[in-house]
Amino acid sequence: MTATPATTVFPRVGGHRAFDLVDTVHWRLDEARRIDTLASFDDVVEWCVQMGVDAGGPAELHDLARKEPATAAREHAAVIALREAVHDAVFASSTAAVELIAREHVDALGRSDLRRDDTAVTWTWRVPDDLSGPRAAIALLAHDLLVSDLHAARRCGDDACGWVYLDTSPRHNRVWCTAAGCGNRNRVARHQARKKS
Ligand SMILES: [Zn+2]
Repeated sequence: MTATPATTVFPRVGGHRAFDLVDTVHWRLDEARRIDTLASFDDVVEWCVQMGVDAGGPAELHDLARKEPATAAREHAAVIALREAVHDAVFASSTAAVELIAREHVDALGRSDLRRDDTAVTWTWRVPDDLSGPRAAIALLAHDLLVSDLHAARRCGDDACGWVYLDTSPRHNRVWCTAAGCGNRNRVARHQARKKS
């Protein structure tokens, strides 16, 4: 019997879904350990599902990706470029990254419709019903983050982790992506270093 591969559970520590997207890279600051959990277009669709990002019907998107693998691969690469642009715009003040997000945002709006459900009182952008849906939805998120107040944007205090988040703690003193993960590991390491010396 072959076991079904476990679905990746994507982290939600960013406080904004554009930062959650950046956090799909684990150990970003350690080239040897770095893991990209968005390895394919299908992973991007799964990320959108888990994050509640409306990027089109997941079954239809998986199906389309099987039929048009070259387009899916291009869209996957474009999403990864957007993810890295979010990181570099916020944490490296990269003009090229900001320009990429601006271009993708304008492009996403050009291909989307502003719609309202029968029951809702607000209008929302509906992204195109094709393989470019996830990229459009993610471009809207990236722009939304970029034009928000970024005073609370932080990077985890761990040397290798590289996860980013909005520090919304009351005293704005959050050092770790998660207290149980990087927080605990670093506390233990410090304790052991003290014992040794
Ligand atoms: Zn961390």
